[in-house]
Amino acid sequence: MVPKKNELVTIEITDIGSGGEGIGRADGFTLFVKGAVVGDVIEAKVLKAKKTYGYAKIEKIVRPSEHRVEPVCPVAGRCGGCQLQSMSYPAQLAWKERKVRECLERIGGVEFAQDGESETDKPHFLPILGMEDSLAYRNKAQFPVGRDKNGKIVTGFYAGHSHAIIPSTTCAIQAPVNEVICKIVCEHMEQYKIAPYDEETHTGLVRHILTRVGAATGEVLVCLILNGKSIPKAEVLAERLEKAVEAFSVAKTENEASEDLKDAREANRGEMAGLVLKGLCLNVNKEKTNVILGREIIPVWGDTYITDYIGDVSFRISPLSFYQVNPKQTKVLYEKALEFAGLTGNEIVWDLYCGIGTISLFLAKKAKQVYGVEIVPQAIEDAKQNAIRNGIENAEFFVGAAEDVLPAKYKESGGSMRADVIVVDPPRKGCDEALLQTVVNMEPKRVVYVSCDPATLARDVKYLEGNGYRLVKAQPVDMFPMTEHVETCVLLTKNFCN
Ligand code: SAH
Repeated sequence: MVPKKNELVTIEITDIGSGGEGIGRADGFTLFVKGAVVGDVIEAKVLKAKKTYGYAKIEKIVRPSEHRVEPVCPVAGRCGGCQLQSMSYPAQLAWKERKVRECLERIGGVEFAQDGESETDKPHFLPILGMEDSLAYRNKAQFPVGRDKNGKIVTGFYAGHSHAIIPSTTCAIQAPVNEVICKIVCEHMEQYKIAPYDEETHTGLVRHILTRVGAATGEVLVCLILNGKSIPKAEVLAERLEKAVEAFSVAKTENEASEDLKDAREANRGEMAGLVLKGLCLNVNKEKTNVILGREIIPVWGDTYITDYIGDVSFRISPLSFYQVNPKQTKVLYEKALEFAGLTGNEIVWDLYCGIGTISLFLAKKAKQVYGVEIVPQAIEDAKQNAIRNGIENAEFFVGAAEDVLPAKYKESGGSMRADVIVVDPPRKGCDEALLQTVVNMEPKRVVYVSCDPATLARDVKYLEGNGYRLVKAQPVDMFPMTEHVETCVLLTKNFCN
């Protein structure tokens, strides 16, 4: 029977959807419930009902699941950022592991070796690598700026599937220094009557505050995304931010944090000695768009980038370039990619979708030559600079779509720019089929596929398996605790290789 909108139903949560939402059934009708955990018995209010499924919200927890925990954030229920804060971390890991495995089995048609089955040709599914401290891990934040119902300037987070700002200056998965930065920017805006951007009317100035914090270096960059090219009293703001970051003492802002959160903040700070503001810059975005960043960066004070390390490779990171958001787990993931690449020092490696060259440079030290390809020109600029700053001479980078650049370069070079190993790390939509076809034509011995979406990974693995490659092993890595996302590194080899 189809329940009506606003009807109350009592259901047991028996499954989790791909977005992390709980799934329960009322008289055979499927309901998706945000924040509900497998094993919960809840009273739910129906928000929307289609023919065979609908959405509901928790009204009351009748019997909590054994995996249910108290969320660390007070706004966890409303904020769209974390989907899994109500689930214990071990249960999150188990769910992510299952999600990756099931995608590869169902979509990819993969048949994994069973536990304990070692003498086999079947691929191995390795247990997920999680974090010891699953909070305060992010090095990048983007806070929308707006007004609360009293007209006060606030920062916060978007509610799920909406652009309503839930006011908040703290976030359990981010660096605590952001709290001070948001406060200073809001105060500055109030003082100089600087209006936040209003999406409805396309008026106002400040759209977002973006911050980057180097986990190993403690360097902080603040970038204001503006519907304009300048902000009043920018140099005053820079000075205030510099002082505030310097004065920021963990103890002062930790009073209200839970013990778990304090421990995680301590553990995930890396080796940073102290925090220092490296720069304040502006990003111009005058478009009516949901895309946060515009193309132009205007320096105001200091540098327009920070430096950070992954292992012993240092990176220059600017606001426009992609950089992995969880430095601790990035190292774990890249070490897996390196291990799967099986380098001896004689290999030519192509790193496709290379961003600022993070994986390329991580591999370059163990390879003969690395070629990186990336579509964002700024990121390639950073990649080149990163190679120079690390004294790496065997890495070369090209701007363009991987599906265009790879076949073009291969053809142009008469085959000399061949590949022993190809690493791909595409965005969620996975690899273009034309690219996979070129990979197959180039016949690398190994393909290392790093993926942030198990469904498109599985689709692409199926393609490669249908074209002369076989999956050897799959390794999920939890880069994004508390959220629905999971990263996976897989190794495929050419059929005739071991
Ligand atoms: N390997 C990098 C970046 C991975 S994110 C790292 O680990 O840091 C995926 C990257 O692919 C982004 O930098 C994005 O700009 C780039 N990208 C998206 N589509 C692309 C395409 N068609 N060709 C090349 N790069 C692309």
